[in-house]
Amino acid sequence: MKKESSNFEERWSRALQSNYGQPHMTLVSGKGSVVKDSEGRSYLDFLAGIATNILGHSHPAVVSAVRKQVATLGHVSNFYAHPGVIELAEKLQTLVGDPKAKVFFCNSGAEANEAAFKLSRKTGRTSVVATFGSFHGRTLGALSLTGQHSKRDPFLPLVEGVSHVPFGDIAAMKRKVNARTAMVIVEPILGEGGVVVPPPGYLRAIRDICDRTGALMVCDAVQTGMGRTGQWFGYEHEGIFPDVVTVAKGLGGGLPLGAMIALGDASKLFQPGDHGSTFGGNPIACAAALAVIDVLEKDKLLIKVRAHEALIKAEMNSFPGVKIVRGQGLLLGVVLKRKIAYILREALEDDGVLVNAPDPYVIRIAPALNISEKEVRTFMEIFRKNLAGIINA
Ligand SMILES: *Cc1c(COP(=O)(O)O)cnc(C)c1O
Repeated sequence: MKKESSNFEERWSRALQSNYGQPHMTLVSGKGSVVKDSEGRSYLDFLAGIATNILGHSHPAVVSAVRKQVATLGHVSNFYAHPGVIELAEKLQTLVGDPKAKVFFCNSGAEANEAAFKLSRKTGRTSVVATFGSFHGRTLGALSLTGQHSKRDPFLPLVEGVSHVPFGDIAAMKRKVNARTAMVIVEPILGEGGVVVPPPGYLRAIRDICDRTGALMVCDAVQTGMGRTGQWFGYEHEGIFPDVVTVAKGLGGGLPLGAMIALGDASKLFQPGDHGSTFGGNPIACAAALAVIDVLEKDKLLIKVRAHEALIKAEMNSFPGVKIVRGQGLLLGVVLKRKIAYILREALEDDGVLVNAPDPYVIRIAPALNISEKEVRTFMEIFRKNLAGIINA
């Protein structure tokens, strides 16, 4: 008799398109930072839906908020307001530190960046500067911003007017941005690009360049937002305010929700009819996001994130085979001395730990922000053991 899981995977490949490649595991349930597959095996989840299940799986506050909202008002069109979308937008105004900021809600990171791209056209300018190695999403507009050939090249021609400069290179940015630039879009830390941290002062320099040229500074905090780096949005350590912040991933705590937040004068650019989304600001997704933010605040999770970061860096930087742990908060890239990230990822999975390997040298970890110290220590022990097994083999 066929194992149930292989049956799932056969059915998957018969019914779903091949754009992701064939998954080799089917997950059926999750609680906190533990997920279960269809064969009943448990895994410590150190990827959390790629930085998305910010409070882990089935968090009681999210479950109860969603349950209550779906039983009260599940959806309304954007012809009408509802209390949750207003409350969430007000909360985001507070979190970005600008009471004049205004929010557009959508359902994903790509859509948040699409919205920012369209917003930038309202400046009357059309050229855009982005960075190589960046990931801003897969829709044609967001893909035009994305700085990765492998993802772009099959879909050329993309939206014209976008140029890319090396990430972290202030001089290159200065040369490229001018009075015709509508926006500069940058990730505070490259997430999909392998958890790459720019040199200190990079975002501040971009802020200055944008101030001098009148270009909008857009921070794509889709992966680095919502407390992931130990601050609400991944740019705050540089003490700057961008003109636009995009968030998604962690915002809905696992429900599909994205936001494009325009600060200051940028908040006045969109006019009625300029943009829209049927599901954007959906009451259930907003209820989940409000529950997520409430728990992040009440449980003081941003402080805990920074403590976990310090612990992980202190321990793992001295593991044999580890070159350095880079990143911030709980978005960390464990850089290996040898090109063994893919086999290490597999070994970890066989040993009950989920991570991913964005390139052959890097293991990315992005667990739920409410991960416990005990789970962090368990993860590090399993990591150390499997890494040693591979380098000593
Ligand atoms: C994941 C990601 C996106 C795209 O988000 P989707 O929800 O997959 O469209 C955009 N920008 C960054 C930085 C991301 O990490």
